[in-house]
Amino acid sequence: ARWTAEGSWGEAEILPYGPFEISPASAVLHYGQEIFEGLKAFRHADGSIWTFRPERNAERFQHSADRLALPHLPVEDFVASLRALVAADEPWVPQPEGETSLYLRPFMFANEEFLGVNSSAIADYYLIASPAGAYFPRGVQPLVVWVTDEYARAGAGGTGDAKCGGNYASSLLAKKQAAAQGADEVMFLDSESHTFVDELSGMNVFAITKDGRILTPSLTGSILEGVTRNSILRLAEDRGLEPVEQRLDFAELTSQIAAGEITEMFAAGTAAVITPIGELRAHGGSWTVADGGSGETTLSLREELTGIQYGRVPDRHGWLTRLV
Ligand code: PMP
Repeated sequence: ARWTAEGSWGEAEILPYGPFEISPASAVLHYGQEIFEGLKAFRHADGSIWTFRPERNAERFQHSADRLALPHLPVEDFVASLRALVAADEPWVPQPEGETSLYLRPFMFANEEFLGVNSSAIADYYLIASPAGAYFPRGVQPLVVWVTDEYARAGAGGTGDAKCGGNYASSLLAKKQAAAQGADEVMFLDSESHTFVDELSGMNVFAITKDGRILTPSLTGSILEGVTRNSILRLAEDRGLEPVEQRLDFAELTSQIAAGEITEMFAAGTAAVITPIGELRAHGGSWTVADGGSGETTLSLREELTGIQYGRVPDRHGWLTRLV
């Protein structure tokens, strides 16, 4: 669907997947005025197809749109687009065995033909989909995470809490360096003091303490508020863990790991679900979390979350929305 400053949103249509044309002078190609979202459609054993908390993604999309000077897509239209595409692509939604799903990627970009730093009077909204299996080639094996002391993902007043392409553009080099260190992922610290944990390139970070707390960095403006993050804090609280959202000092974190006070760490996001972190590596040393394996609570939270998503566990928080 296309938005224009004069006429607001036009009619949406479903087209066969394939390339589309944009002008070489399109605003998005030069100034990166683009936002996106990521959700999944899950097939249940009875054949019905569901998605997980789509209003939160729709609202985050509006928040990202505000920051990137793009128009709001109404929440109902966002959800209606998911429904329409999944209904059309129904045969592509995998069976629930093996936990594969249909990944949904809504995105919006500025498409005015204009060379100049001004917000565009034309925005296009698209939604594409692709079957998704495991995010990491090794599956649910504990991750090795490289902590970059060179690059930050986002700075104060920047776009860190928006889901825009530019954030990922600036994280790619750090991720490449992490891979060169033999790591699976990169961890970013805050840009001002390089002291506090922000997040990974596409996931929020959690630590579980021996005394029953679940720690995750607070929303300081430089990290993305994950839908998975919010859901995990609820599920953890339900089982008696105390959720603690605070600034997470990296030096303190590593000394707590070394002292055995932190017994589990994991990363979480729509694509990666919940994946254990087995080791942190930085220029100053390396720290193995407990025995470096997959923590019991981590795996059990993962089982519960995927259980809700695939319809094996009662959806007591009302998080599922039926698509088909
Ligand atoms: N942080 C970043 C930078 C991400 O790209 C993602 C994935 N969208 C997340 C966190 C996790 O968000 P969610 O749980 O909504 O997928």
